[in-house]
Amino acid sequence: YSSDHEKLRKMLDDRIIEAFFYAKKYVGDNKTDRKSVANHLENQLLSLIGLSYQFSEVDQAEEWRRKSLANLTQHIQTTIDRIQNPSNCSKAKILVCNLDKQCGFGCQLHHVAYCFVVAFGEGRTLVMEGDGKEWRIHFGAPYTGYSHNGWTSTFLPVTSCTVKDVIAGSGPVNWESDRSARVVSLPIVDSLRILPSYLPLSFPSSISDQLIKFHTNPPAFFIAQFLWYLMRSNEELQKQLNEAKEKISFSQGPIVGVQIRRTDKVGTEAAFHSLEEYMEWTEIYFKVEESRQGKKVKRRIFIATDDPSVFKEAKEKYPSYEIFGDEGNANTAQLDRRYTDSSLLGVITDIQLLSHCSHLVCTFSSQVCRMGYELAQVRQNTRGNEFHSLDDVYYFGGQQAHEQVAIEKHVAENDREIDMEVGDLLGIAGNHWDGFSKGTNRRTGKVGLYPSYKVKENWRIVDFPALPPL
Ligand code: GDP
Repeated sequence: YSSDHEKLRKMLDDRIIEAFFYAKKYVGDNKTDRKSVANHLENQLLSLIGLSYQFSEVDQAEEWRRKSLANLTQHIQTTIDRIQNPSNCSKAKILVCNLDKQCGFGCQLHHVAYCFVVAFGEGRTLVMEGDGKEWRIHFGAPYTGYSHNGWTSTFLPVTSCTVKDVIAGSGPVNWESDRSARVVSLPIVDSLRILPSYLPLSFPSSISDQLIKFHTNPPAFFIAQFLWYLMRSNEELQKQLNEAKEKISFSQGPIVGVQIRRTDKVGTEAAFHSLEEYMEWTEIYFKVEESRQGKKVKRRIFIATDDPSVFKEAKEKYPSYEIFGDEGNANTAQLDRRYTDSSLLGVITDIQLLSHCSHLVCTFSSQVCRMGYELAQVRQNTRGNEFHSLDDVYYFGGQQAHEQVAIEKHVAENDREIDMEVGDLLGIAGNHWDGFSKGTNRRTGKVGLYPSYKVKENWRIVDFPALPPL
């Protein structure tokens, strides 16, 4: 280790202890103004986070990490590409994915990614039903659907095989009735009786050590590889994305991607969150960034939303912010049920631009937000903690149970909390982002709150025979 490493580590230790001294003396002390104590402690902790990030970059660690993640990406992408382009389509093992899942863009893409990762796990080539010509995005009724021109109207083809190549005579066999058949079709995840082990949050044993070492969220990094491959743009889309990107000066310092999902989602699948809430977390990011960089940082955000009124509100309320984003991209999901090719372009552009941002503030309950986060992992090779979700923890629809394991004993302090022994497994339902998570202790069957710092992730590491070690 260099002396910079030692100096920074010592600074980190000292500042943690200083924060502890301060909290011990003033937090429970009624004589001191509570607001000023809260303020002081918050600033102390923000500067600590900044220092901790600085520490994680010392000795070119950041470059090393990025390079290693980029190598992993290349390795996975090459392997996917090889399986997707077999030398003989009529002999290769195939999985046919039915695209007719009636939902929005993010939901559709996650659905195809689900087919894709199961196919990859079994060493099968993913082929889309109807070769992707029938790709429509359903949203609400009556059916209208966008992209009338199929998958390749925006994206590159996913495989060199066509349905005709792979199916001679009878159609594919249902994956659940015969998993060894050469050509299988996979039902949508909601109607599966057996969950394939390859489903997120699983990731491959052949690269698990590197992933755990370099990334804070290996399952997201891994599934993102499939979304990345799926969303490779055709020439025309690429041109449009480049134009949209040029309007935003990404190279001139950090930009926070703020994705605000409202309209039909609010009150059905998610709660309403005010612009102020998003901006509070945006401001926190910039304060940490200033502490990390040791200088003033210009406030800049990119807004993606299905509620176009947000743009005006943001410009009025946050005049010191530089605000990017295109109101014209906002698809009001509830109102605009007649999806058109331009609304398809709008959501793709928003998602891709979100993946260029340095940090995201959004609700992980939205698939648009999660896709922005996922693609950012592949695009930027960062650590995976560059986000704040106002609601859910990261998840993948239809995933294997998300579990954590207790690394410290906990004795419940009130009837909302639950006990934990070291080694207990917890099925996490959510993080309340206040120091506590909610979940089920698998040993006792009790449901309740536990301190988030007393657990770690119980990674789901699975053999993916198709992916060799790097
Ligand atoms: P979810 O409902 O947010 O989980 O995501 P889906 O993608 O499944 O469906 C929501 C649909 O609403 C999207 O496909 C878009 O058409 C629209 N939408 C939601 N958020 C945004 C956004 O930030 N930008 C744009 N352009 N459209 C959005």
